[in-house]
Amino acid sequence: MPDEPRMRLGPDGRVILDEPTPTHLTAAEITNCPLCDDDGYRGSTICDHIDRTTTTARGLAAVRAALTKATQPHQPTPKNPPTKPPDTQTTPL
Ligand SMILES: [Zn+2]
Repeated sequence: MPDEPRMRLGPDGRVILDEPTPTHLTAAEITNCPLCDDDGYRGSTICDHIDRTTTTARGLAAVRAALTKATQPHQPTPKNPPTKPPDTQTTPL
């Protein structure tokens, strides 16, 4: 559970709100995370220390399957057999 913000009075009587450090920026979170560097960055993005590789892989697989299905020519299924084209032959007179 994140720390609650603390309030204190400044020398001029104003309320100063000390925001707690977000958990993703704490040194302990950064040290324990295998995904980010010593500054808490994963590449050029601030790391939230959540490994999403499984979710990402599942989403990519779903996208690839949908794209493959969309780009393949229509395959008739047993439920939907191809319709026989109308007989265009004309009988000789
Ligand atoms: Zn991290």
